[in-house]
Amino acid sequence: NPVARSKPDWIKVRAPQHPVYHETRALMRDHKLVTVCEEAACPNIGECWSQKHATMMIMGDTCTRACAFCNVRTGMPDALDADEPNRVADAVAKLGLRHVVITSVDRDDLADGGARHFAAVIGAIRRAAPETTIEVLTPDFLRKPGSVEIMAEAAPDVFNHNLETVPRLYPTIRPGARYYQSLRLLDHVKMLNPSIFTKSGMMVGLGEARPEVGQVMDDLRIADVDFITLGQYLQPTPKHASVASFVTPDEFADYASLARAKGFLMVSATPLTRSSYHADADFAQLAAA
Ligand code: SF4
Ligand code: SF4
Repeated sequence: NPVARSKPDWIKVRAPQHPVYHETRALMRDHKLVTVCEEAACPNIGECWSQKHATMMIMGDTCTRACAFCNVRTGMPDALDADEPNRVADAVAKLGLRHVVITSVDRDDLADGGARHFAAVIGAIRRAAPETTIEVLTPDFLRKPGSVEIMAEAAPDVFNHNLETVPRLYPTIRPGARYYQSLRLLDHVKMLNPSIFTKSGMMVGLGEARPEVGQVMDDLRIADVDFITLGQYLQPTPKHASVASFVTPDEFADYASLARAKGFLMVSATPLTRSSYHADADFAQLAAA
């Protein structure tokens, strides 16, 4: 596919060199932690890790879903590791993170979808690093009754769940998920605990049209979602969905103004925006406002 072969200039990313990048990497290895930064081959890894900002992936590196854009391995995951909450918390404390993002694979094999494990991780971080603000980026908890209540009670500072793409593209891009289930999840968390900031994101460049993106923004605002992220989809390997277009920086700026006009408290829309990109700085800015 010719589009995937020729990335535009604004997508090129510098290789990680900073010493803190290597320290972060060593600490993750020592604590046997998986990061989405590495698993998703994120183009911002050099920048984020140099600034001691990372997104940790809990509950293993094997997912029960197989989304067409995602590079995470699919299969039957291992049993949960009861010691993981402590290891994550210890790493957060040692890295001295101001804001941490915790995400996971989908665990359709677990009765609660992993909600209790998420809550245990949040609790352990609160004890080990009480100053650190916590953002969770969760699965959709499809057909997992009770899990939303557990998450709302665990009270992360930010509850993030990505819609990923426009509803029309769900059958090909996010086949295991349901658009309205994901929206309802965000809505439900906010209703149960209005002190939690809610956040969602999507990738563009998958073949969506501008009015469809506007519709997703409206749906998110109706669900009272506070923050939005939009970034360019990049094909992780030739087996994944191909890039339909590279959205230009000007088009991203236009999406950002549209999102601000619709009332999101925080908007990040650039080619390299990822769900957790600059989440630390954004949150600090909001807390200071
Ligand atoms: Fe990791 Fe998120 Fe930064 Fe990418 S944007 S390197 S996933 S923290
Ligand atoms: Fe990747 Fe998440 Fe889809 Fe699993 S559910 S394949 S981790 S995007």
